[in-house]
Amino acid sequence: MALTNHNKTEKVCDVSGCDKEAERSINMKQFAKSSLKLKDSNVRSVHLCKEHYKTYKKETKTSREIDQIYR
Ligand SMILES: [Zn+2]
Repeated sequence: MALTNHNKTEKVCDVSGCDKEAERSINMKQFAKSSLKLKDSNVRSVHLCKEHYKTYKKETKTSREIDQIYR
């Protein structure tokens, strides 16, 4: 199923291998804290689909939790 409607300015998720519609955009600096890979890392802001935004949030949260687990 190909979504090629041009009635909106559709942004596609910037994560490598993902072609879902982007729902959020976040700062590249913030994004660098996650382990997600980009199609093009030469951008200022990263567009993320719903799923990858969740992953990003989880990862950035997890890294804090890991800090607490390490003794
Ligand atoms: Zn995505």
